[in-house]
Amino acid sequence: MSEVIENTIGFQQVLRALEYALKHSPFYQRHFSAIVPKNITPEAFRQLPFTGKEDLSQNNRDFLCVPQQQIAEYVTTSGTSGKPVTIYLTKNDLLRLAKNEKESFELIGAKPGDLFQLMTTIDKQFMAGLAYYLGVQELNAGMIRIGPGVPALQWNSILENNPAILIAVPSFLINLIDYAKQNGIDMNQTSVRSVICIGEPIREEDLSENILARRIHSDWNLELFSTYASTEMGAAFTECEAHQGGHLNEELIYLEVLDEEGNEVLHGEKGEIVISTLGTEGTPLIRYKTGDVARIYREPCACGRNSARLGPILGRKNQMIKFKGTTIFPPSIYEIFDSHSEVSCYKIEVSKDYLGHDTITILLENKIEHTPVMIEIIEECKAKLRVVPHFVFLETDYLRSQVFKNHMRKPEKIVFK
Ligand SMILES: [Zn+2]
Repeated sequence: MSEVIENTIGFQQVLRALEYALKHSPFYQRHFSAIVPKNITPEAFRQLPFTGKEDLSQNNRDFLCVPQQQIAEYVTTSGTSGKPVTIYLTKNDLLRLAKNEKESFELIGAKPGDLFQLMTTIDKQFMAGLAYYLGVQELNAGMIRIGPGVPALQWNSILENNPAILIAVPSFLINLIDYAKQNGIDMNQTSVRSVICIGEPIREEDLSENILARRIHSDWNLELFSTYASTEMGAAFTECEAHQGGHLNEELIYLEVLDEEGNEVLHGEKGEIVISTLGTEGTPLIRYKTGDVARIYREPCACGRNSARLGPILGRKNQMIKFKGTTIFPPSIYEIFDSHSEVSCYKIEVSKDYLGHDTITILLENKIEHTPVMIEIIEECKAKLRVVPHFVFLETDYLRSQVFKNHMRKPEKIVFK
């Protein structure tokens, strides 16, 4: 019964969002011509055309719903054609972002007075770092903004300021572990108790820890929390302490998870994540196809909350690699390289050969070129991917600079050329 009532409330909110978009957005006026939102039924809503990444990229300014003077923040996300897409935020949208992140922090058990250390970018028009900063302030907690990279600086601050919670990309934690080992720092005697992980999955499809998470835990006893978020939705799905998928914030996002035919998938099944933003003023999105595929869990969580949860992103529709009749998603390649402790950094390049077929090149550190681990890696590629990629060996520092780029929010582990 409670689920029905919640869905009704969620539906009323998405109708308000639709009404607002139709009133203010030139794009949606064209896209949804001849719709009377007040009379629309849930069935009719599910018949509305989707909004795609291409729509947003090609008609960016037509999504804007407020006069320019009311834009408080211009954040960008990478567009489908490589051209950045701008998401315009009003002051109220910033408050919405702060509420989202505060509630994410509460899901992981953070409290007022806790100290966070931010290991991601906060400038360069990226939303994530800004959202974390606003959320920490909203929680009445504290933040040390170190930014990405530089393990020495990160450790100096951890030892000096004693933060309890790190915000980081999981593969960067491997760099922190390496540095700690080389410099005699006992990780498990520090103040750090948990990490909000962004940008990379730390769970397998069955929600158990993936190889990257297990590798971190083999050295460092801290709690890892997975998150899924995007600039377009201005909200995050964050794991609670039960680690059974990221919780939907029902006040901020109307979620649909759809199969190939556009039907909602059942509890535990996988589909494409389609979102509508609730309560946004600057750039509302209705039935926006993220291209991300994940499983949805609708039954109540062990933590007692009833909100739907999403499992790890199993693939991005635009990141499928077609190779000799087989389809490979990048996580299956990551798994091979993350499973070897000798490999501290790598990068995958996918490009087309002269026949238009995908080819895969892996950049690795030159110190592993003539070692037994390379033989194991080649065997695993044959067995698990049914393909042996090309390998290129590079100096460690140079390779790291190609993966952990200063202007990128996430490590650039894969590029499509
Ligand atoms: Zn939960």
